[in-house]
Formats: sequence, C-alpha cells, structure tokens
Amino acid sequence: MTIYTGPVFDMARQQFRVIADHLDIPLDERERLLFPKRAVTVACPIHRDDGSVAVFHGYRVQHHLTRGPTKGGTRFSADLRIGEVAALAIWMSWKCALTNLPYGGAKGGVAVDPPSLSRHELENLSRRYMQEMIPFVGPHTDVMAPDMGTNEQVMAWFMDTYSMHQGRTVMEIVTGKPVASGGTEGRREATGRGVGFLVERACQKIGLNPSGATAVVQGFGNVGSVAMQSLAERGMRIIGVADHTACYYDPRGLNVNALLKHAAAKGVLAGFSNEVAFHPRELLAQKCDVLVPAAIERVIDADLATRLQCRILAEGANGPTTPEADEVLDQRRREVFVIPDILCNAGGVVVSYFEWVQDLQQLFWDEAEVMHRLYQVLHKAFQQVMARAEHDGVGHRTAAMAIGVERVRSAKNVRGLFP
Ligand code: NAD
Repeated sequence: MTIYTGPVFDMARQQFRVIADHLDIPLDERERLLFPKRAVTVACPIHRDDGSVAVFHGYRVQHHLTRGPTKGGTRFSADLRIGEVAALAIWMSWKCALTNLPYGGAKGGVAVDPPSLSRHELENLSRRYMQEMIPFVGPHTDVMAPDMGTNEQVMAWFMDTYSMHQGRTVMEIVTGKPVASGGTEGRREATGRGVGFLVERACQKIGLNPSGATAVVQGFGNVGSVAMQSLAERGMRIIGVADHTACYYDPRGLNVNALLKHAAAKGVLAGFSNEVAFHPRELLAQKCDVLVPAAIERVIDADLATRLQCRILAEGANGPTTPEADEVLDQRRREVFVIPDILCNAGGVVVSYFEWVQDLQQLFWDEAEVMHRLYQVLHKAFQQVMARAEHDGVGHRTAAMAIGVERVRSAKNVRGLFP
C-alpha cells in the first residue's frame, strides 16, 4: 500500500514487473526505478464568479531526475487521483528514454471538471496551480505541458504566471504554448500526426495498403481529431469516432471535414447526426484495419481484447490497454499489430522537446523542419522497437518498455547512488 495505490498505478506497476522480470533486474534495484522521486499536492483556492471561494486539489509527480529535468503534461479532470498522475509520470519516463530525450517523466493536474468553470475561473485556477508549483518546477527542473482538459491557452497562463514571478519572460517553463508566445510550429498537431506516421510504418510492416483501409478513433480531442485527419490524409476511410458525449459508426465512411467542423463549433461530437449513432464500447470491437484509442486509460480490457477485430492497434492515449488485455494481445500477436502508447503518442513530447530547445536558444524553426525532425525520431524508435521485439521474441510493448527502462537504469547505474 502506498499513497499511489489505485487501478492506474497498479497497472504501471504490473507492467514494470513484467519488464523487470524480462530484463532480470535484481529485486533491490526495482523500487528505485519504479517509485517517483517527488510528489507534490497543493490546495488551489480561487474566487468563483459568484463571489464564493472554491478549493481544488492539484498534484505534480516527478518520476526521476537522472537523465535531465522532468517533463510532462497537466491534466484537468474531475476524478484525478495522485496514483493516476504517478502512473502517467512513470510512462512518460519510459517514453522519453525510448525516444532518447534528455528528460525524466513527470505529470500533474487538478481534480476539476473544466466545463464546470467559466473562462475567468479557469484562468484563476490555472494561474493559482502554477503559482503553487513555482517552488518545485523550472526550465531545468520540471517542464510542464498540456494533457487532457488543458490546452494552449492554459499553457500561456502558466507561462505568464511563472514569468511574472521571475520578472522576465521565461518561455521555456512550459511547452504546448501558442506560437504567439514562444510555442513551436507543429506542437498542437504533433501527437496525432505522429500516430498517423507510425500507423503508416505499421501498414508497411504487415503489408496493408493505407489507401482504402478502414479506421476507428476513440477520443476527439487534440490527439484523436488530428490522428483521424492524419489517417484520412493517407487515404483511410474513417468508419467510427467517439468522444465522451457521442459515438458514431458508418461502414461506408464518415464525413471527416463535417466532423471536424462540428467539433470545432460545438466543442464535442454530440449533435452531429442521429443516423449513425452507435454503442460506445462496441465501437472498439467493430471490424476495422486500424483502431486508435485516443481518450482515457483502461478502455481495452481482457474481454474486449479477445473481441478486437482490428489489424493495427495504435495507442494514441496513455494506458488504454490493461495488463490482462495485454496478455490476450500477446497471444494474438500475429493478428493484431500493437503500436504501444509510449511509442505511438510520443510525437507530443518529442515536439515539446523541440519547443524547449527553440525557447532556450531563441531560434525558431519552421513547421517543415519540426515535422522532418519528428519523423526522424519516431522512425528510429519504431525500428528499434521492431528489432528488439524480434531479437527478444516479445511483443511490441515489452520491447518498447524494455528499451526505456534499460536506458533509465543504465543512467542511474553510471551516476551511482548518492551519497
Ligand atoms: P483532450 O482533452 O484534448 O481530449 C480528450 C478526448 O477524450 C475528448 O474528445 C473527450 O470527449 C474524450 N473522452 C473522454 N472520456 C471518454 C470516454 N469515456 N469515451 C470516449 N471518449 C472520451 O485530450 P488529449 O490531449 O487528446 O489526450 C487524449 C489522450 O492522449 C490522453 O490519454 C493523453 O494522456 C494522451 N496524450 C496526449 C498528448 C497530447 O499531446 N495532447 C500526448 C501524449 C498522450
């Protein structure tokens, strides 16, 4: 029992145990690798529009500081718990190591339902959260980014709050900012485009022509909507989409531009069409070539894993597949090609890293350069995961995590244990 205990942390811990066994890591090294270095909780009081005061609970977990500063998103979600934040920080560490970024993993957030706040209240809460975190973060200590429930605007408020405190503009304190305030070209699209790029690599690997292939996408936020667009640009037919408000399925193909237009106007998918409404959980089990879960954790359990009919499972979300489902998918390795989350959605942190580098140098790249460099990094990581899976005779998730864990472990070992 630890402060992190809960279903999402237990999942990260279970996954780590599999990798630690695979790598034969001695028992007395395991806790040092798994448990977060720091966890901060803060109370964030804000004035509500009606004059009352409300207090929200905020968290930040920094997993390890061995390979550089920590880096990770900020999630605003009603049911947020510190165990979930810790699991996300741990996954971020393996992801950064897999893509060879000079970071440890971090994650943070506030337990709040963003739509329940007015814009003014959201700004108050964002600023207060950053203010409370100032002693614990910094451009060379811990760099924040967006995640579920936060966006470019929230990052701009974070950056402004930190900068006001320092008395100068410190762009490099957060990534995922608007381009107008030190953000990079391509960051908003990076994760979803990365998903599209890696799906194309996977298609090549299994001999599937992307043009005319079918895809289902769960989650229509930053990752899901851009991933859908990116797959459609490769000629894929999008036959199913869902968010937390609605689910649509049409084997003839949905109108991608109309969906994007509707979501841009309404903020959600609800109200798009009555004709193609569908059962949300069953959407994932429909026959398709590519399935992209891009919403929340633990949506694919063992039961669903046995029923998946996709050829490629591209994990846009963090932790969409439970360890029990993983065991099933391991048995189905020849049928379902898994692009594991720490590889599949790594585009976001890779371009966040580019943003940090550009802010530190005050030298900005154009979008073509950002994308070219992103695809180089993802291509290399994909090749390494494929080679490792083949060499060790394991699934792609084990291979990807083994590379990440091994890199963190070797950095810890060469630095030694202080004092
Ligand atoms: P977002 O807040 O922009 O969008 C989340 C989407 O998920 C929304 O469309 C929401 O309606 C949908 N959703 C929530 N609950 C759902 C449910 N029960 N069923 C169906 N849909 C549901 O968030 P995002 O930034 O797109 O992040 C999505 C996932 O991708 C998260 O797991 C996040 O950690 C991961 N991720 C995001 C980034 C990034 O750059 N934004 C990078 C790496 C990983």
